[in-house]
Amino acid sequence: FVEIRHARKNYGYIEVLKDISLNVERGQIVAIIGPSGSGKSTLLRAINDLDPLTEGEVWLDGVQVNKKLPHRQYEKHINQMREHVGMVFQHFNLFPHLTVRENVTMAPKLLKGISNEDANKLAEEQLAHVGLLDRIDYYPSRLSGGQKQRCAIARALAMKPKLMLFDEATSALDPELVEEVNLVMKKLAEEHMTMIIVTHEMDFAASVCDRVLFMDQGYVVEEGPPEVVFKNPKEERTRAFLRKHL
Ligand code: ATP
Ligand code: MG
Repeated sequence: FVEIRHARKNYGYIEVLKDISLNVERGQIVAIIGPSGSGKSTLLRAINDLDPLTEGEVWLDGVQVNKKLPHRQYEKHINQMREHVGMVFQHFNLFPHLTVRENVTMAPKLLKGISNEDANKLAEEQLAHVGLLDRIDYYPSRLSGGQKQRCAIARALAMKPKLMLFDEATSALDPELVEEVNLVMKKLAEEHMTMIIVTHEMDFAASVCDRVLFMDQGYVVEEGPPEVVFKNPKEERTRAFLRKHL
């Protein structure tokens, strides 16, 4: 469903992704773990071509995301592809001058041309889903970090994405706010949303994900089901990382 073929990424002389191949099936939930600087964010951002690969291909649901096209056609193509991919980052990227409702309705109205009324219904539905309906007319400045992150998730879901990408969505949150965001992600997992989740939370990864990928220095060093990668890792580098993080 999501396929990465021989991905390489250079920044100048530095190779930050080294021949990474990865298949994620529809409905699968994959965690990416690994030390700082190992290339996790770069890989995630390559999936919707925010960080274009130097070499290699990315496919989503049978369509090549990063296919070579003349500039104009490419812009159109990539914007269409990105409509299918929801992304939630570490730092809440809500529009501060828009209310929660407006944050959620903006993309569907703008990109899908849906009516005000339908957009409002959609916003209510998605905000109820993340438990934020009672804050629908608040501005982001009046939300807690956990509420902001749940709003960001609702906003991504309003586009009815085929795939959700999370890049350390909870790591900027106070500990007591982490759980409410994790619960939303768990709910999505139960609904079989396809997700790729970069996380530092090993317990969460172990309880929610079908597969875990350990990255180090631009390589996928090891991957497998969480019970294997966490409890019985094959590679010494994985063991060393887990000793520090479990
Ligand atoms: P963290 O856990 O700290 O978020 P990460 O695994 O997400 O780390 P990346 O952000 O993917 O790591 O970075 C991988 C490597 O690429 C790092 O060495 C980083 O310095 C380098 N890098 C990332 N973005 C750029 C850039 N725009 N220009 C040059 N080098 C970059
Ligand atoms: Mg990162």
